Amino acid sequence: MTKEELKQYAKSFGADIVGIASMDRFEGVPAQMDPRFIMPEAKSMIVMGFRVMRGSLRGIEEGTFFSNYSAMGYGGMTYTYIPMTVINLCKVIEDEGYEAIPIGHQSDWRGIDNRGNLRQNYSRPVEEGKPQPDIMLHLRFCAYLAGLGEIGYSKMLLTPEFGPRVRIGVVLTEAEFEPDPIYNGPKLCNKCMACVRNCPGRAISAEKTVKVNLAGHEIEYGELDCDACDIAFRGGEICKDGERGTYFADRDDIKPAPHSPFYNKPVNLYNSGQAVCGAMGCTRACMISLEARGVLKNKFHKPFRRKKLWSIDWSDYEPVEFTNTSVSELGAHTSRITDGTVKESTRRTVSLDEQHSKEAD
Ligand code: SF4
Ligand code: SF4
Repeated sequence: MTKEELKQYAKSFGADIVGIASMDRFEGVPAQMDPRFIMPEAKSMIVMGFRVMRGSLRGIEEGTFFSNYSAMGYGGMTYTYIPMTVINLCKVIEDEGYEAIPIGHQSDWRGIDNRGNLRQNYSRPVEEGKPQPDIMLHLRFCAYLAGLGEIGYSKMLLTPEFGPRVRIGVVLTEAEFEPDPIYNGPKLCNKCMACVRNCPGRAISAEKTVKVNLAGHEIEYGELDCDACDIAFRGGEICKDGERGTYFADRDDIKPAPHSPFYNKPVNLYNSGQAVCGAMGCTRACMISLEARGVLKNKFHKPFRRKKLWSIDWSDYEPVEFTNTSVSELGAHTSRITDGTVKESTRRTVSLDEQHSKEAD
């Protein structure tokens, strides 16, 4: 099978962009993140990019439909669409007699934490000289090493096709394919800092940067405060002194932030989807900036931002008991919207505000 045929298969299975990295490009990568410890005989890494629909960001942008980005732009892609594609691509490679490992997001099983430190009391190497199971690939860096794009100041992968609006799946294989060059096309990140200014958690530092060397190329990005992102990403903010919050079920110091309309963090979708911030800074702001500069290939007839940004006034916030309703509980409250009002199945008509309060109680 030629490299072109392989890429054609990947696209027919659902990938939008495909690149190939040779394994020597991983020289110098920490052992806990080195794919050569997963498959020592690997000759190639095939990295596929999957676009997040620009339309999936619209509901959060306009405050009308929050679930879609978390479901279809995040968890559903990560845990359904990408695994199907990488598995299908592995089938055509294994049909040729070469082993292939389909890799998507396996971040719940890994030997290191978000900061790259070994997780305490998690696992131990199976023999001397091996890292702890499980290896955690840095998918964005894999994509960089396969030539799919740049690492922007936000540490997001920026592709010439979709900018930061992309997720990643990987196939590791013993089959050898000619590697693609590392991306050297038109510069995508111009350090506009829209990502920094628009991140609701102020999680991306404007001053402190991190430098890494990937296959001889120096990459520099803003230091990311993972704790701040973790809270803001899910729509929360830390309470002020004397306040109590119930936004997260397991903490009493988090309340809803102005970018979340929810009294309590909504349930996860497709295992991980809970992206209430809608990637306000790292994706949406960056995409708007890149589109305005005309550097992305995926063009649209209308600009993304069409309305003034909304913000919720939570100054009257009072903690409420955590009410993350299960699907069956939601079923008991089946409602329909008619002329701006919500009609419950009991035929009592209530305003949207009242309905919202009721569900939060
Ligand atoms: S928003 Fe600007 S600075 Fe941030 S990654 Fe995108 S182009 Fe770079
Ligand atoms: S996911 Fe949200 S909180 Fe985290 S860096 Fe991006 S914009 Fe900031």
